[in-house]
Amino acid sequence: MNYLNDLAADIEGWKRDGRYRTMKVWESGSDTWMNLNGRKILQMSSNNYLGLTHHPKLKEAAIAAIEKYGVGSGSVRTITGTLDIHDQLELELAAFKGTEAALVFQSGFTTNQGALSSILGADDVVISDELNHASIIDGIRLTKAARKIFAHKDMNQLEAVLKETQKHRKRVVVTDGVFSMDGDIAPLPDIVQLAEAYDAIVYVDDAHASGVLGKNGKGSTDHFGLNGRVHIQIGTLSKAIGAVGGYVAGAQLLKEHLIHTARPFLFSTSQTPAVAATCLAAIQVLRESSDLVTKLWDNANGFRSELQRLGFDTGASETPIIPIIIGDPAQTMRFSDRLLEEGVFAQGIVYPTVAMDKGRVRLIVTAQHTKEDLAFALNCLQKVGREFGLV
Ligand code: PMP
Repeated sequence: MNYLNDLAADIEGWKRDGRYRTMKVWESGSDTWMNLNGRKILQMSSNNYLGLTHHPKLKEAAIAAIEKYGVGSGSVRTITGTLDIHDQLELELAAFKGTEAALVFQSGFTTNQGALSSILGADDVVISDELNHASIIDGIRLTKAARKIFAHKDMNQLEAVLKETQKHRKRVVVTDGVFSMDGDIAPLPDIVQLAEAYDAIVYVDDAHASGVLGKNGKGSTDHFGLNGRVHIQIGTLSKAIGAVGGYVAGAQLLKEHLIHTARPFLFSTSQTPAVAATCLAAIQVLRESSDLVTKLWDNANGFRSELQRLGFDTGASETPIIPIIIGDPAQTMRFSDRLLEEGVFAQGIVYPTVAMDKGRVRLIVTAQHTKEDLAFALNCLQKVGREFGLV
């Protein structure tokens, strides 16, 4: 059998549906303007919320770590792969998040896989928002726990599920802190209140809230003043923090348990020294000043208001993630392509990542966008929006 025929048939189908993607290859550039095929393009789709990827202190830390430790860690964490900078990073993260302990993984994706599969057993139930990230869905699939999905942010449904699952040993309510496709914020105070009433555990994935929400970007738990009431906080080091990695922040016993059971932690080589040192420097930058976070929110709120004034549908956005809802997948991808011709990159996001009729271009505003950058983006969006009859 020629297995490639099967793959080709899938690919043809995606092309017919307008869902086929070619990866763009970006050449060197700054935080906000990047080169693509020799052209300068305004980047409006990066998760580099604070612009830390180019921060001088982070670059210096990475270079110094390479000089001191070399480019690789040589092993998994439990053999020779825990360097003092990994240890310091975890202490710094725990202090930043206000938790007893933190444990670093190689990515946010594997953090969810490791944490969910470690804490959930066959007698437990996991209760998950329908719009939670793919890594949460995959993490849940790795467990033998019963699964319940509640409609997006629907607290009545969540309560009904909590009521009907009381026979389970442990109930874990899982939510994104900020939802990555819509840019809306989870109703964490309501979730915590229900969890407390029904003796459930709260697990929040702050991938898009780390460095964004809360004082100095401490995350959604801090944003809502819920310190001490959220059991498990997940964060990523790959977005606002500027490098790559993920972490679990919570109790020391949770950390010790994960060290013994979380398979991506146990069986995959630790973060490179440069990455660990970069993340450590990033957390220190965040702890020292809230200026970047303030700038991020000023930019995001101003830009979202302007889009709405022009007549765009920005969905449920209330964070720097700002979708423009278009609907049809093919039309969405054409809109994104036209914007690129005008010099702005905004990723088109279509089925199956979002519902078939909810295609959107997703704009992400960062602290590094200047007033001129944002005005340029708005001009291009208005021009292309008129062509597509959106405004
Ligand atoms: N959780 C959420 C909610 C995310 O949006 C992402 C990133 N797409 C991840 C986890 C994975 O994080 P990372 O990119 O660090 O693997």
